[in-house]
Amino acid sequence: MRKRIPWKQYFMMQALVIAQRSTCDRALVGSVLVKANRIIGTGYNGSVSGEAHCDDVGHQFVDGHCVRTIHSEMNSLIQCARNGVSTDNTEIYVTHFPCYNCSKALMQAGIKKVNYYFDYHDNPLVIDLLKDCEVPYEQIKINRQYVEQLAHKLENAEN
Ligand SMILES: [Zn+2]
Ligand SMILES: [Zn+2]
Repeated sequence: MRKRIPWKQYFMMQALVIAQRSTCDRALVGSVLVKANRIIGTGYNGSVSGEAHCDDVGHQFVDGHCVRTIHSEMNSLIQCARNGVSTDNTEIYVTHFPCYNCSKALMQAGIKKVNYYFDYHDNPLVIDLLKDCEVPYEQIKINRQYVEQLAHKLENAEN
């Protein structure tokens, strides 16, 4: 009996797929902004449009970090800004636990919950900020069954 994928896994799976478009392999990060179970914006970490990609020309290091890309979470917010969509009272589904800069922007943009997949240098500054803002965070697990159902579908389509 086929089981429908639950909402949280549905959104996280999309963030994981979107991450595949990232242009810096230091971290393939994707995110979706969700309001009332509708996706209002998406993003991955990548260069400013038209600028060189890390994957093509190498990284741009400052203090051991690649600084070339706009982070996925920022790109999701920026997409909403460009499209004139309010991010107030929105949840984010993001593949990696957000950095401090992105977390500050997310709080300021009215994000009310952070859902993440990979623990990524869980930063105490971020944890404190989320607590101060009373914004909960949750690690989402994806049941293998949904990945396998999809892989099975694709394999059948190839034959
Ligand atoms: Zn890079
Ligand atoms: Zn970030």
